[in-house]
Amino acid sequence: MLDRYARQALFSGIGSKGQAAIMEKTVAIVGCGALGCTSANLLVRSGVKRLRIIDRDYIEESNLQRQLLFDEEDITKNLPKAVAAQRKLQKINSHVVIDATVADLNPSNIETLLEDVHLIIDGVDNFETRFLINDYSVKQGIPWIYGACVGSRGVTMNVVPQRTPCLRCVLENLPPVGTTETCDTEGIIAPIANLIASLQIAEALKILTNNLDALNTGLLTVDLWQNKMTRMDVKGLSGNTDCITCKRRTYEFLSRDKTSLSTILCGRGSVQILHPNGAKLDLANLAERLKRVGGVTHNSFLLRLKLEKYELAVFPDGRSIISGTNDPVVAKGLYAKYIGM
Ligand SMILES: [Zn+2]
Repeated sequence: MLDRYARQALFSGIGSKGQAAIMEKTVAIVGCGALGCTSANLLVRSGVKRLRIIDRDYIEESNLQRQLLFDEEDITKNLPKAVAAQRKLQKINSHVVIDATVADLNPSNIETLLEDVHLIIDGVDNFETRFLINDYSVKQGIPWIYGACVGSRGVTMNVVPQRTPCLRCVLENLPPVGTTETCDTEGIIAPIANLIASLQIAEALKILTNNLDALNTGLLTVDLWQNKMTRMDVKGLSGNTDCITCKRRTYEFLSRDKTSLSTILCGRGSVQILHPNGAKLDLANLAERLKRVGGVTHNSFLLRLKLEKYELAVFPDGRSIISGTNDPVVAKGLYAKYIGM
């Protein structure tokens, strides 16, 4: 078994002791898009004990350019990203326990989904979820690694509670909606996502093997088109800020109303609707009921209903992603009409 990890254990920063430590650890990846795919791939190959992949979405053709775990067959099979990633990764390393969780990480489920992890890797596409992770990390003392990218630019930072500033120290408030570019408005080249994820997992290996002195202590920014890499030292921030999260220990995002029932998925022309109490939908029954309304396909993970102007993706817990609109009122109307509350 150790043959598999021989080159990694030979590296002096890790050694056989470090390898043994990695093999005891549970890591969660939140968001399995471009960043999450590469992070998951590297972590599973590194031999962690357990990996939990949390993602709320299914795979679309426009994802294949940069999301390295997915292929055309996954799209034909209508697989959610977490499930497709798990299947592929399990073939790569059958010794790692891989949990696929198809869900939207939010205040009502974060304590359950991240309860027993040693480290959280950011692969999400929005600041609301990042600040939620940041709250949970600081409150529970679990490190997390921020990562984001768009265009040819990317950024990453480690948050190790009690040791480094947290994300709120650096980005005091939520960037107002519409002021941050997204992959859907600005596009993205695959190398930046893979680079940022690689930087995140290099830091992850340091954390998992307790090489904390080797950690990058800054906010690292890279632009692959402008050939620029900058590091903003954030160490000084930890002593003198009045951070609401890590100094005043007020967890705004964790204590937010369990659900704002709808979330506009930025730049995607889609709205996500959560079922108020979580449902247990029988997708086969629902497919039978909806087949007169439009084109329906389904499997045990996901049902898709194609209407003239809209498309509804429905998950067994009652969650739905409604494409073709950015208007929560329209989306809620469609949800009520076709799925019911
Ligand atoms: Zn802070």
